Amino acid sequence: MITQILGYPRIGAKRELKKACEAYWAGKITQEELFQTGSKIKQSNWSLQQEAGIDWIPSNDFSFYDQVLDMSLTVGAIPDRYEPLLNHRVSKTDLYFAMARGYQKNGLDLIAMEMTKWFDTNYHYIVPEFTKDQEFHLFSSKVIDEYTEALEKGIKTKPVLIGPVTYLLLGKEKEAGFHRIELIAKLLPVYLNILSVLQNAGATTIQFDEPFLSMDLTADEKEAFQYVYEKIAVTFPDIDLVLATYFGSIEHNLTTVMELPVKTLHIDLVRAPEQLDVILNVIPTDRNLSLGVIDGRNIWKNHYETSLQIIDRAINVIGEDRIVIAPSCSLLHVPFDLDNENDEDTLPSTLKSWLAFAKQKVTEVSTIAHLSYQSPSPEHQKELESNKAAIKDRNSSTLIHKPEVKNRVANITAADTLRSHPFSIRQTKQKALLQLPLFPTTTIGSFPQTAEVRQLRFQHKKGKITTESYHKEIANEIEEAIRWQEEIGLDVLVHGEFERNDMVEYFGERLHGVAFTQFGWVQSYGSRGVKPPIIFGDISRKSPMTVQWTSYAQSLTNKPVKGMLTGPVTILQWSFVRDDQPRKTTTQQIALAIRDEVADLEQAGIHIIQIDEPAIREGLPLRKKDWSAYLKWAVDAFKLSAAVVKDETQIHTHMCYSEFNEIIESIAAMDADVITIETSRSQMELLEVFSKFKYPNEIGPGVYDIHSPRIPSQEEMENLISKAINLLSVQQLWVNPDCGLKTRKWEETRHALIAMVNAAIKLRETH
Ligand code: GLN
Ligand code: ZN
Repeated sequence: MITQILGYPRIGAKRELKKACEAYWAGKITQEELFQTGSKIKQSNWSLQQEAGIDWIPSNDFSFYDQVLDMSLTVGAIPDRYEPLLNHRVSKTDLYFAMARGYQKNGLDLIAMEMTKWFDTNYHYIVPEFTKDQEFHLFSSKVIDEYTEALEKGIKTKPVLIGPVTYLLLGKEKEAGFHRIELIAKLLPVYLNILSVLQNAGATTIQFDEPFLSMDLTADEKEAFQYVYEKIAVTFPDIDLVLATYFGSIEHNLTTVMELPVKTLHIDLVRAPEQLDVILNVIPTDRNLSLGVIDGRNIWKNHYETSLQIIDRAINVIGEDRIVIAPSCSLLHVPFDLDNENDEDTLPSTLKSWLAFAKQKVTEVSTIAHLSYQSPSPEHQKELESNKAAIKDRNSSTLIHKPEVKNRVANITAADTLRSHPFSIRQTKQKALLQLPLFPTTTIGSFPQTAEVRQLRFQHKKGKITTESYHKEIANEIEEAIRWQEEIGLDVLVHGEFERNDMVEYFGERLHGVAFTQFGWVQSYGSRGVKPPIIFGDISRKSPMTVQWTSYAQSLTNKPVKGMLTGPVTILQWSFVRDDQPRKTTTQQIALAIRDEVADLEQAGIHIIQIDEPAIREGLPLRKKDWSAYLKWAVDAFKLSAAVVKDETQIHTHMCYSEFNEIIESIAAMDADVITIETSRSQMELLEVFSKFKYPNEIGPGVYDIHSPRIPSQEEMENLISKAINLLSVQQLWVNPDCGLKTRKWEETRHALIAMVNAAIKLRETH
């Protein structure tokens, strides 16, 4: 049985790549030193896979920034604005980083290319830009260099490329009058060129990633697939192509896929196990099938028995010679190495025994392959037994299973998700209670996280200062923030979130059923990584999570202070989640914990509570047909967390970087009394859909772009508010920034918020 890995994380076990890249950008190390770090990581990744006995070890899965950007350089899709860099003769490396991050040097000011999410993951790629008369040529030889680099070290690898159709579809037309798929005939020759060079260098097995085969495809796109793969097959009869699909089923494109003349087809059996039987029935006899049975998107140990059953089913139909064993997708989306985790407090050893990170998953692939032989060795047999024991332990663990939580979820009724009265009634009562002026002003929650505040939290975490003095310092920060907000005349105040490291981690640390890692970094984009919490068990609050600081802030002022919570869908979306129950159930559990907090805040005299849900939109499934089911439970979870309060208590929600066009009905169904959104960059364009839909509740369209250090003028903000007034009724409108201010400096924030408050005051005079 053959084994393969589709891609391996490249940031290094201790984030060596991040450090090297950032040092290089700061001019602290040379290009040579940067490359050395890259080579060390590649070398160690290759050796580790070789030692585990993997047959097809990938190369060109390494990247200094992003694999899609690598591809753009490979095929010479370099937007015109970077032309001056070619003339200035900067190195290809600097051109590459300029495309990723922009370039402000030598009298040039070039903006970076756009970035967007890689399918439904939290990884962001650099979006290729295409023009109507786009030309392609082999520009960077990275894929070939990496192949030879490995070969020189004695490892024959499988070069990995993003397939040409997926590469085009990932991009964006930069002018009207054409569709990027039409560029396929111009692009293909570059791929043929690459294949020929790779073949001359000795490569025989080459992987093309075409995850778009799991998406909805137009007739033109299907035709492009046929055109490309037929041409490759006739030009290179001796190259064995691995066509990698992942993140979903290919059943809806079955005929297209089956007609593509490739040697090996890879399918994702974690996301879409149901496709196996269908595919086994129709797969041509000259084709291998790569079974993606190990989860490349999550951190749980593989369930060997289940995987072996799947493999057996495949063996029975197509025979063992045609089967390849693999993870479901690239391991880019999981942390490096579980062995680095040695802290009982963050990750208890029981929990650790249920997990597998990238390195462990490589071993799992090879172990499963051995176990699927007729008579596996005693060592492998032992592996199976210990795997069974771990799975059994997890299935019945009291760390995970809390009957009281399960009962609560089972007893959720439709009434739990409904406020007592419709919005119009609540609005009257809230207006009477809160007595806010027209265009009430507020902020989204966080205030600047200064170096001192970060240091404070860090020292407390490390036990270097007492909890008592930590609390005193945080209280000071809050008091200062409250005084300052009163001074500049904001209407609804916030405590400032100084005690929070991250909006998900803060809550995760206060919930049963959530664990953390020390080194579980996953690449988010470029040199940025995230360390997602691990939701492993039934969720409940340990104790009230925010009441203390919110009440303290409220005790300092007569103005209303808004309580600040993270919503259930966002907590789910930004964590590794359980694979032993539906996402919906996990979200309901989180929602109940948030609901308890909402009730406690109300009890403590807080009249306004904001539940942030910035991740609702990004949770949308890849295929439209699955949207409505998701939106239903996501919206219900939000409502469950909110609907515990009385009419007078005002529920806010906040969503940034969202486009609402196709989901406005669901946004309205959330029935938040006030929603704040990000609209300043789009000049209120994002608000239009609310107007068309006749969105009934109150809404705060952001008038201050907090992603930039630039301070907007009062007049600018007045103009934005006026635009909003044209779209919605004045009774509906709030005035606020686009998002929280934690990444900004106090200086900028001060000026901007004063101007924002004055803009609101000015407009009150005329309305
Ligand atoms: N309340 C959070 C903050 O202000 C919201 C952050 C977000 O939406 N991403 O920081
Ligand atoms: Zn936001």
